Amino acid sequence: MKRNRIKELLKSDATGSEVRVMGWVRTKRQSKNVAFIALNDGSTINNVQIVVDFAKIQEDLLQKIHTGASLSVTGELIESQGSGQKVEVLAKEIIILGEADPDEYPLQPKRHSLEFLREIAHLRFRTNTFSAINRIRHQMIFAIHRFFTEKGFVNIHTPIITASDAEGAGEMFRVTTLDPKNPPLTETGEVDWKADFFGRKTNLTVSGQLEGELAAMGLGEIYTFGPTFRAENSNTSRHLAEFWMIEPEMAFYDIHDNMDLAEEMLKYVIRYILENADDDLSFLSQRLIFEEKGLPQDKRSPFELKEKLRFVLENDFARITYTEAFDILRNSKMNKKKRFQFPVQEWGFDMQSEHERYLVEKHFKKPVIVTDYPKDIKSFYMKLNEDGKTVRAMDILFPQIGEIVGGSQREENLELLIRRMDEMGVPKEEMWWYLDTRKFGSVPHSGFGLGFERLMLFVTGMKNIRDVIAFPRTPKNAEF
Ligand code: ATP
Ligand code: MN
Repeated sequence: MKRNRIKELLKSDATGSEVRVMGWVRTKRQSKNVAFIALNDGSTINNVQIVVDFAKIQEDLLQKIHTGASLSVTGELIESQGSGQKVEVLAKEIIILGEADPDEYPLQPKRHSLEFLREIAHLRFRTNTFSAINRIRHQMIFAIHRFFTEKGFVNIHTPIITASDAEGAGEMFRVTTLDPKNPPLTETGEVDWKADFFGRKTNLTVSGQLEGELAAMGLGEIYTFGPTFRAENSNTSRHLAEFWMIEPEMAFYDIHDNMDLAEEMLKYVIRYILENADDDLSFLSQRLIFEEKGLPQDKRSPFELKEKLRFVLENDFARITYTEAFDILRNSKMNKKKRFQFPVQEWGFDMQSEHERYLVEKHFKKPVIVTDYPKDIKSFYMKLNEDGKTVRAMDILFPQIGEIVGGSQREENLELLIRRMDEMGVPKEEMWWYLDTRKFGSVPHSGFGLGFERLMLFVTGMKNIRDVIAFPRTPKNAEF
């Protein structure tokens, strides 16, 4: 007999028919003649209730069933007596697929802390919170691919192992097959990277942008969606050592087209989730309210989760220049009362997360796009403005997260690009292929990078980036 997925079964009207469900036991309640088992198979946040009548099922079988055990249940779909679900299953036969010893199984039907669940990341998929997050994560991935597909973009897989440091974006992980104890040495006693697998130093990519630009210079509009790696030793709630990034790159787009695309994309994905993940979002919304219950008002989220998402859809993002942002910050009460950890004094300072969040949460009260940053705090490839001081960068700042997107119009003028590389000490010889795009048929073009887990934080209302990816990689943590 075919298995019925619980998600579809719970919507079914076919009471009286025979069904079979398989899943993991969430809870078991027992009274004199009857027991109730809440069974979940991961297809939905909702459990199906299994009614066990001791006239039909032997009681000693039931004694072996505990939270965490896996079952195959055949029975009759009946109208639910209790509240909540429409239907439940009156068991005719129960097969225990795998037992779970209650003295050893770490997940009990109670609230576990997120910290504890991180230590048992191999089992946390079986909790409501992590199954909801991972289903939403999948739907977001799908929505992103659908958005770009509808727009005619081509998805490119850029390399994971590279020889270039795209932008000095952070510390890199070396990739090597050399023996660390006994590496081949050059005459001067240094490690001889020429003898390494690729005949040169290689590392895990920090961004697919440079290769993405190459592809856009022939395909027009492309995007990458791949893993990126940064060995930054910063233990924050917004940084992972391995994270996923969406990087579109578009020929013939200027900075304004770039901003329009980023805003449209964020809204598209958020709308998709609101329309297609209501059960999971509602669950996460309740979770957040519960979690914040004990907190003082000013530490709580100002919006309910879905309200917050709708708010993003309904409002145009504010668009300001760095210089305008600087003035707002410098003249703010926060700054005058010296409440920022990093005081805002001189034009040219690099905005910290506290400043980004001030702009978004206190001043504009909606997402903000900041453009035209001082060239000294941005990458070499960003197009220089006429003022010679600022570049055509654009960062999108979100409430609770700070920077979620970093992008720019790229410098397409070969001479200016070379000048910037020289100024910033970027090696030109290694990047001859990048410079070739400016030598042959160069066109204005733009792109951005969206950190997927940062977006996940926003959509799920979770507060730690370790909880929105299945197996987080952070300093001193690669267990699973
Ligand atoms: P931040 O200042 O927050 O470290 P960044 O300036 O290093 O960010 P970019 O190099 O512009 O970030 O990368 C593009 C996007 O990738 C960022 O906007 C952010 O969403 C995401 N991102 C960057 N670093 C990380 C990380 N370590 N973990 C998760 N996401 C990240
Ligand atoms: Mn960084």
